[in-house]
Amino acid sequence: MAAENHHGGRSALIFLGTGCSSAVPNAMCLIQPSDPCHVCAQALSIPPDQNPNYRCNTSLLIDHCGSDGNHSYILIDVGKTFREQVLRWFTRYKIPRVDSIILTHEHADAVLGLDDIRAVQPFSPTNDIDPTPIYLSHYAMESLCIMQLIVPAVPLNSIAVKFPYLVKKKLAEGQEVRRVAQLDWRIIEESIETPFLASGLQFVPLPVMHGEDYICLGFLFGERCRIAYISDVSRFPASTEHVISKDGAGQLDLLILDTLYRTGSHNVHFCLPQTLEAVKRICPKKTLLIGMTHEFDHHVDNKFLKEWSEREGIQVQLAHDGLRVPIDL
Ligand SMILES: [Zn+2]
Ligand SMILES: [Zn+2]
Repeated sequence: MAAENHHGGRSALIFLGTGCSSAVPNAMCLIQPSDPCHVCAQALSIPPDQNPNYRCNTSLLIDHCGSDGNHSYILIDVGKTFREQVLRWFTRYKIPRVDSIILTHEHADAVLGLDDIRAVQPFSPTNDIDPTPIYLSHYAMESLCIMQLIVPAVPLNSIAVKFPYLVKKKLAEGQEVRRVAQLDWRIIEESIETPFLASGLQFVPLPVMHGEDYICLGFLFGERCRIAYISDVSRFPASTEHVISKDGAGQLDLLILDTLYRTGSHNVHFCLPQTLEAVKRICPKKTLLIGMTHEFDHHVDNKFLKEWSEREGIQVQLAHDGLRVPIDL
């Protein structure tokens, strides 16, 4: 498991979650023990911080150490299990706050922890704090409005809203102030042509298909090391694959890539056969896999992947929750 430590003068990636949308353990495996699942059963006897088969919703924290030695903390996705991830890993790695948030898309496993962002913001009973910048596509913003999680920063006709509090700035007359997460919504383009800065680090959006009817964003970042993070993908458009491929715009130092099941295929995610095919085409120096269901048994499958890696000459392993990877950004 990952070592303790760490505020040196070096950046790092911290895998806050490496599981699928329903997370691992799968509840059914534990409430119907007549159908035992070895991977899920481990959750009953091994504490989560020591169990690589305990997987929260996929999320990455980038601990970016700037040239001045100051750290900034960039969070990609805020899923259903965010609070649990904060309690387990922010404490382990002494992460004091979140400086900016980037959303890959607006599915529940990427956004439903947004309410708990207030837990990592300074306390102000009057909400009088600097809002945390949050970067998302226009489509994700609109969908969040339609999902009634937020009201639009710019009016989107009259959509009834259930949770207006996450963007509403002014109270109506007579309305009591209540403490809520303070967020500064910033729209990004779904295009590799329009990079954006989050806490001083540049990100290139990587549009990918997440089902043929849906575009999700991955992100390319890092100047000294090139890293691509792609959490939800069923197919790469050619233009996106080009910018992250060795034969295209140049070899990645690290590819972080979706894989849902060990075998077969799925309509909205890569499973291991498609993941490994993509890894061979993209040919990064190293790959870490995320988004796994309970079909994956960490140590068993990493042994298989180690053998595959030696055969193919490309290093591939499953990531696990709490994995910390020091890296030069
Ligand atoms: Zn299971
Ligand atoms: Zn999704």
